Amino acid sequence: MTTPAPIDLRSDTVTRPDEQMLAAMAAADVGDDVLDHDPTMRALEERVAQLLGTSSALWVPSGTMGNLIALMLHLKRGDRFLAPRGAHVLNHELGSAAWLAGGMPDPLDWDAGPGRPTAEAVRAQANLTMAYDALHTTLLCLENTHNGAGGAVVPPHEHARLAAAAKELGLKVHLDGARLWNASVALGVPPAALTVGVDSVQVCLSKGLGAPVGSVLAGEAEFIKAGRRVRKMLGGGVRQGGVLAAAGLIALDRIDALGDDHDNARILADGLVEQGWQVTAPQTNMLLAAVPDVQLTLQRLRAVGVLAVPMNGQVRFVTHRNVSKSDVEEALRRIAEAGV
Ligand SMILES: *Cc1c(COP(=O)(O)O)cnc(C)c1O
Repeated sequence: MTTPAPIDLRSDTVTRPDEQMLAAMAAADVGDDVLDHDPTMRALEERVAQLLGTSSALWVPSGTMGNLIALMLHLKRGDRFLAPRGAHVLNHELGSAAWLAGGMPDPLDWDAGPGRPTAEAVRAQANLTMAYDALHTTLLCLENTHNGAGGAVVPPHEHARLAAAAKELGLKVHLDGARLWNASVALGVPPAALTVGVDSVQVCLSKGLGAPVGSVLAGEAEFIKAGRRVRKMLGGGVRQGGVLAAAGLIALDRIDALGDDHDNARILADGLVEQGWQVTAPQTNMLLAAVPDVQLTLQRLRAVGVLAVPMNGQVRFVTHRNVSKSDVEEALRRIAEAGV
C-alpha cells in the first residue's frame, strides 16, 4: 500500500514561492543593502510602513529577529515586560527576550477571551510603585493574531484600549503582528487600524503570504534607524536583499487571499466537529483540537497522510495557500476513513 501525498497542515510557514514569485525574485533590481540600501528592499519597507501606518520600516530575515530588535531597543536589562500568556515572545523564541534583550517576562492572563488580556490586567500587573527595589515595567508586548490561542483575533477597540492603558502607565508598546494580515482580513479592517498606539510592530511575509523568507519591523524613523544598527549587530544585514524583498512585494499582493484560508479552516473545523472532534471555532486560519493523547493523534494523522503539530497540549491545524478546499475535504475523508 502506498501512502498518499501528505496534506501539510502543520503551519502556513510551509508555503512555497510559486512561479510568479520566483520570476519576480529573478528579475529584482538590487544593490548592497548594507552599504547604501537596496532599491527593492527600500520599496518593500516603504510599502509596509504605509500599510501599517508608520513612518518607517526595516526588513528582517525572521519574525523572531524583528521581535528581538524591538525588545532590545525598548528594554533595559532587568526591565519587566508584559505579554499575553502563551505569546510567541514568551514561549517560542528560545528565551531571547531574557538572554539577549535582558527583559523579565510577566504573562498576562486571557481575561477578555482566548489570547486576549484586558486593559485592567495591564494596569494591575504593571504594578508601578515608587519602592526603590521594585521592578521597572516598561513594555507591553501584544500579539495579533495570537498563535498559541489558535489564531485568535484582537479587535481594534480592544487593541486601542490596551495600547492606551500602556501609554497612561508610561509603557512602550510592541505588537507581534506575525499574522496581523489575517486579523485584518478576518475583521475587514485595514492593517493600520490594528497598530494604533504602538511604538513598533513586526509582521511576517513568510507565513500565509507565502514569501520564502522575511519579516518587517515598523515604527517611527528614529526607532527604525536604531533598529538597522541592531539588525546588523545580530548578523541580519544582507547584501543583495532585493532578491528576497521582491518575494515580499508579491506576498503583499496576496493579503486578501488569506480569506480563502479562513474559509478552509472553517470547513475543516466543521468537518471535524461532525466526526465528533472537539475543536475551537477558527477565527482565522488555525484550529486547535482537544484530544486525550496529542502524540498518539498526531501519529495516527501522519499515518493517513495528514500533518499537524502539537500546540499548548492540543493538536493544531493550519490552513494556507498551498492547501486547497479539495485538499481539506480529502484530509477530512482520510481522517473519517481511518477513524482517527
Ligand atoms: C512565526 C511567529 C513569529 C516568528 O517568526 P519567524 O519568522 O518564524 O522567526 C513571531 N510571532 C508569532 C506570533 C509567530 O507566529
